[in-house]
Amino acid sequence: MRRVLIAFVGFVITAIVAAPRVESQGGKKVFISVDMEGISGISGSDQLSAAGAEYGRSRKMMADDTNAAIRGARSGGASEIVVNDSHGSMRNLRLEDLDRGVRLISHSFKRSGMMEGLDESFDAAIFVGYHAQAGTANGLFAHTGSGVVADVRVNGRSLGEGGLNTLVAAWYGVPVVLVTGDNVAVAQVATVATDAKTVIVKRAINQRAVELRPFDVVHKEIESAAREGVARAARMPAKREPAYKVEVQFQDTFIPEVAESLPGMLRPAADTIGFSADSMPRAYTLIRLLYRYINPD
Ligand SMILES: [Zn+2]
Repeated sequence: MRRVLIAFVGFVITAIVAAPRVESQGGKKVFISVDMEGISGISGSDQLSAAGAEYGRSRKMMADDTNAAIRGARSGGASEIVVNDSHGSMRNLRLEDLDRGVRLISHSFKRSGMMEGLDESFDAAIFVGYHAQAGTANGLFAHTGSGVVADVRVNGRSLGEGGLNTLVAAWYGVPVVLVTGDNVAVAQVATVATDAKTVIVKRAINQRAVELRPFDVVHKEIESAAREGVARAARMPAKREPAYKVEVQFQDTFIPEVAESLPGMLRPAADTIGFSADSMPRAYTLIRLLYRYINPD
């Protein structure tokens, strides 16, 4: 009897030690970065900030697209979801409007902006509501970071927000599995996030006019693409370059005039600041610092 008891205790201990952590019991951890310009139903710049009369409607539409991605991610195997509000004030999403159980990162005072909160513990990233990069003639609300930026180049490659964010995710070994936005935006991001599914929620006619698709159709497409994307998501080897050489070209020369004085910053052209970083997350925080936290006025 005693020997049986010892054997039983041994079995229990082995079972406890061998038991996987709760979140790894088939569950995946998913990061969702949500911008606003590429949300279904959004058609005018006055809808994009709290000053606009339609802002209440806009943030509801933003939550609706996000919830479609959350539902899909969950049915694809996500057990832990972090939503990062990635537009403007970054206080657009209200926790009570989101599906229960997700965590929400709120407020724009964050060094990593649209990618705040992402690290190597995630299995997949989803970009919701993205827009075209600065300088895109037919891209709805086309810009990169903010209106002061003309272009951002990393190791010689011109990238928009979705492209930059994909490089940050790749640094951590996290695959981007879904991108939603207007047709121009998702086509641009897909050139960098080459394995991501895409959902076109509206058709850009030019930088201001847009053809909106029906909400119910779009939400079903987001949900199903998120389900498939998360279900097949597998962490990949971290993709890291030896150095990240960045050039941020501005619309005018004011920010470069100030930023040139910062250690490590070069000014290869009157309207451009260049620097080199040893990691993509570090490069990303410096890009954000340059366009957001230097006020030449
Ligand atoms: Zn935005």
